[in-house]
Amino acid sequence: MRKESNNQMESSEISAIKRGLSWVELKESLKKEGCPICMIMLNSLEKYFEFLLYEYVLDAAVHKKMLASFGMCNTHTYMLKETEVKIKSDGLNISVLYETLLQKELKLLSRILEPQRKYNKRTFNYYRKEILQKLAANGECPACENQKHSESFYTHEIIRLYKDEEFQKLYENNNVLLCRRHFLYLLNEAPNEEVITYFVNVQKIKLNKLFNNLTNFIQKHDYQSKIEITEDEKKSWQQLLEYSASKKNVNKNGYNEILT
Ligand SMILES: [Zn+2]
Ligand SMILES: [Zn+2]
Repeated sequence: MRKESNNQMESSEISAIKRGLSWVELKESLKKEGCPICMIMLNSLEKYFEFLLYEYVLDAAVHKKMLASFGMCNTHTYMLKETEVKIKSDGLNISVLYETLLQKELKLLSRILEPQRKYNKRTFNYYRKEILQKLAANGECPACENQKHSESFYTHEIIRLYKDEEFQKLYENNNVLLCRRHFLYLLNEAPNEEVITYFVNVQKIKLNKLFNNLTNFIQKHDYQSKIEITEDEKKSWQQLLEYSASKKNVNKNGYNEILT
């Protein structure tokens, strides 16, 4: 009886998810090559950068965040720059967004030069630490925060959907392979053993296929081999790179913590 009501709860939760926009997004990413979580993160970041540049370069809350983190991390800074070019701006949006950062930096440097008590040899280390603390960022890159949010939200959507037939069909397809990091994060978030068993099984099947393709690819390079290399074998080494390090531009600072 209890089990039945749990099942009913699960299926009504699944139908609620499948009525939402996130399912549309997830379904699209499951039709593409590679890791669906990486794919969603990158799409979401692209939208975030466009919103930021089009609508929020003057927003006080955005400036507060950018000042705390002293801008964005390396990966996201250059992704933002690419978006500025993509939307055909000559750099005005980024100038407005970053102007206050430079003001803050100049203010901090002036403060360091203000007359203060003299430090001797013994207290110099303390003095140096104090000024570096003032200059150091005390907030996280806003785009990394966005990335973490997508990672967490969609990983939980996948976990909630895993018993759904339509989801399974898409997820188990050969083109889909969670990258190692997102696979581990999914296991980290799994609420029970059943979830872990399902995802480990599917991952094992996919990695076995990848291993076969990769070894065939290597063996068929033997000059004696007359057998043609298949398309799947040709791309196996690239799939392995993505599996090992996520998609390009998925920033490691934007990963959520994993229990270890
Ligand atoms: Zn991934
Ligand atoms: Zn970042």
